[in-house]
Amino acid sequence: MVSFEEARHLVEQHAAGMSPGEVETVDLLAGLGRVLAEGILADRDFPPFARATRDGYAVRAADLAEAPARLEVVGEVKAGDWPEPGVSSVGPGQAMAIMTGAPLPAGADAVVMVEHTSSIHEPAGKSAGKFVEVRRGVSVGENFVPRGAEARAGQLLLDRGRRLDHAGIAIAASVGKSRVQVFRKPRVAVLSTGDEVVEIDATPGPAQIRNSNSYSLAAQVQNAGGEAVRLAIAPDERGRLRTLIEEGLGCDLLLLTGGVSMGKYDLVEQVLGELKAEFYFTGAEIQPGRPVVFGSCGADTPVGGSAANTRTGVSAPHKKYFFGLPGNPVSTMVTFELFARPMIEALAGMTPQPLIFLRARLKSEIRTKTGLKRFLPAVLSGEFENAEVELARWQGSGDIAALARANCYVVIPPDRERIETGEWVSLLIRSG
Ligand code: AMP
Ligand code: MG
Repeated sequence: MVSFEEARHLVEQHAAGMSPGEVETVDLLAGLGRVLAEGILADRDFPPFARATRDGYAVRAADLAEAPARLEVVGEVKAGDWPEPGVSSVGPGQAMAIMTGAPLPAGADAVVMVEHTSSIHEPAGKSAGKFVEVRRGVSVGENFVPRGAEARAGQLLLDRGRRLDHAGIAIAASVGKSRVQVFRKPRVAVLSTGDEVVEIDATPGPAQIRNSNSYSLAAQVQNAGGEAVRLAIAPDERGRLRTLIEEGLGCDLLLLTGGVSMGKYDLVEQVLGELKAEFYFTGAEIQPGRPVVFGSCGADTPVGGSAANTRTGVSAPHKKYFFGLPGNPVSTMVTFELFARPMIEALAGMTPQPLIFLRARLKSEIRTKTGLKRFLPAVLSGEFENAEVELARWQGSGDIAALARANCYVVIPPDRERIETGEWVSLLIRSG
């Protein structure tokens, strides 16, 4: 039995030794949620020209040292126009109408917002040209972004190992990457165990339950960037369990649920032991999820230095990690987030991500026993400075209905017996 921190650290250490699978090239939008196998560079300066950030007039700030001032309007630049230097530029006493996103014409060194100006309509014939009255001064550099101020051509914008979200997609799009190189998703075997567990489209007998864990785990695997491979349900019987575990070890990672507690029919550890597994921890001081198991099977280094024998195409036996997650649905979900996720992310080629805890005020007192770090289903409500959290009513870690009411987990340190109303507590947000 190790502490939560030790358990997490052990997983992170092993995850750090993982290398991702092959590289594939996909259309940009198909890259959403995938991990970049290449760095994304700026293909030119950003912005590629001095870009106006307001609608108004391109001016020379010195002309507005005394405001109000009257300037001659010598033209207009709209977004997409290119004011040829020498042909259209702003001279002393002059201004050019300019729109947001348009390039700043030569000679100008600021943009004054249209709100601070009035165009002057001279009676026809009295004066040639158009004029604008500017009521406020501006500083040099105001209301435009200089060329290259956001990024220089060739600069790294997104690192290899970064998971593409919508912002990453925007960056790739803006540098013209219509296809991106990403790592192959790791294949994660999901193996539910238990004589009482039946497929979800079966009609359960009076003492049977449907296999919800294979589905929640498959969803969590996908959410973490992996591809779930759901195996058949393993009965609490050595032979069949072993066959299915061996099948699961053909994937990049094996997740088992159920059968890791102390019961007479909890056979997972025994069968893994028969397969010469190495265990890094069997049990962590947490609730839910105390019986969680982490280990590996197979040789430490691939035979011949490569995962597959290139001549025969047969995989050489090499180290495969597994997690034995407790079968109670809430325990399965929590232990996945705390321990399995970092391993999947590493196999997917992602740079390590920290666990993110938010904080909120406790709405009603919590009393508990010391000794375990607890992750209890809770409801976060209210917005901004009124955010508060309270435990969901639950019947323990088998209570799926409580999860439907909850949207996060309150984290209770192992040394706390009582947490008072109004105290700030840490929350683990339920992702995806
Ligand atoms: P175990 O970890 O095998 O002792 O199981 C703990 C509890 O989780 C028992 O009540 C099981 O019936 C339940 N359970 C185990 N596997 C699953 C599953 N695949 N889906 C839903 N509940 C499960
Ligand atoms: Mg069981």
